[in-house]
Amino acid sequence: MKQKAVMWIELGLIVVLSGALLAQCISFKKIRPVVREPAAPGESTLSYSPPPPPKLQWDTVKQLARLRDLVTPKVEKITEDIYLARGFALGSVQMVITDEGLVIIDTTETQEAASKILKRFRKITDKPIRYIIYTHGHLDHVHGSPVFREKGTEVIATKDAVEFMKRDFELLKEFHARNRLNQAGRAAPEYSRKLPIESPVRGFRELGGFVWPTITFDQEYSFELGGKKFELYHTMGETPDHLMVWLPDERVLFSGDLYYQSFPNLSTPMLEPRPVREWYESVDRMVAMQPKYIVPAHTAALIGEDKVREILTNYSKAIRYVYEETVRCINQGKTVDEAVHSVRLPAELAELDYLQELYGRVDWSVRGIYAGLAGWYDGRGTDLSPLPPNIPAREVVLLAGGADKILSRAIELQGADEHQLVCELCDIVIDANPEDKLAHIIKASSLEYLGYTGGNLNMFGFYRSAAALERKAAGIKP
Ligand SMILES: [Zn+2]
Repeated sequence: MKQKAVMWIELGLIVVLSGALLAQCISFKKIRPVVREPAAPGESTLSYSPPPPPKLQWDTVKQLARLRDLVTPKVEKITEDIYLARGFALGSVQMVITDEGLVIIDTTETQEAASKILKRFRKITDKPIRYIIYTHGHLDHVHGSPVFREKGTEVIATKDAVEFMKRDFELLKEFHARNRLNQAGRAAPEYSRKLPIESPVRGFRELGGFVWPTITFDQEYSFELGGKKFELYHTMGETPDHLMVWLPDERVLFSGDLYYQSFPNLSTPMLEPRPVREWYESVDRMVAMQPKYIVPAHTAALIGEDKVREILTNYSKAIRYVYEETVRCINQGKTVDEAVHSVRLPAELAELDYLQELYGRVDWSVRGIYAGLAGWYDGRGTDLSPLPPNIPAREVVLLAGGADKILSRAIELQGADEHQLVCELCDIVIDANPEDKLAHIIKASSLEYLGYTGGNLNMFGFYRSAAALERKAAGIKP
């Protein structure tokens, strides 16, 4: 009897204690995170005279010799029956002559350029065009194709190229149209200053149609024409659909965009992450084939077995280094920005003429590789579900004492050439109040300066477009 009473007391105690514990852990009042939108700050009232337009840097002037080579149209004879037409457009065209007709590799981005090239080719040969080969589905390789297609011409690409082109030219058509103009520095051209030199990126505004492939393959495809053997290999790199064309008897390798004379564009800011590991593996495969000639789709051909081996080996090393260092940063728990600031090419690679960051950039590559492998969340919580940017920006403007305070500091920093910081301060004011004209105008000037000091063709285009769009937002032409 006494035992039973003790048991009831114990049970009562457990119920009371768990009740108290539950009361501590569970709330019956609903908590909803507050989202409060502060009022927009008033428009800034400072008076501002923009700095003079930026001048070309001496380093850039030295690079212009190379740029002139890229925009000077020429048809180069590589061997007795192989020709390379470059400088007519961003993309080049290669022609192989055989006893039974011609093979055309890549077609440029415009029918206008393709027509000029075909006219030059027709001075060399009047044989029929039997095959067109797309090394990959990028616009500067396929859009000149209607000019080269004759009755019975077959068009060869990988199976993946068809999917790739459907995505770029159908699913994401409007985005790609915008992206192309951004990259070429041609967004809102009426708000851009005139360029001192012509850009090699000329035909991005109007794209005509192109011919869809008539022959596709998965891994390998070969054919013979007029006694010449053509071997095609699916070798991923710049894109997942990429192929290379190998002429085993002549030891000529048409490498598409797997090699060109610049640090490669392993990641371009407004496109999907690229298969970087496969890129250096493909370059290693190129080295193993021991080519005598590399005929790329951009920049000059490489001629001579030793030269080809040396350049491609270093090219692969550079890509692999950036890839492996980025992976190391991810595993060490570094954020993408920390990785960007810590990965640098080793000096012996960075100084090589053909690895200058004129077209691709190491920092952009790190961002692309990082995003492709590790997603978009940095682990700090804030970015899981951030507020619309106008809310924190308005708080900051309020704390600073108004837009004038932030912009007068931006003007001071602009005078000291701290242009990136100027843009970041202007963005706070613009996010808080997109109508603030002065913030757009100050930012436009700094963007132009960043473009002229970046030393990179794509970066120049992106900054030029961004500056024009800021001026357009303010409704003020330069
Ligand atoms: Zn390409």
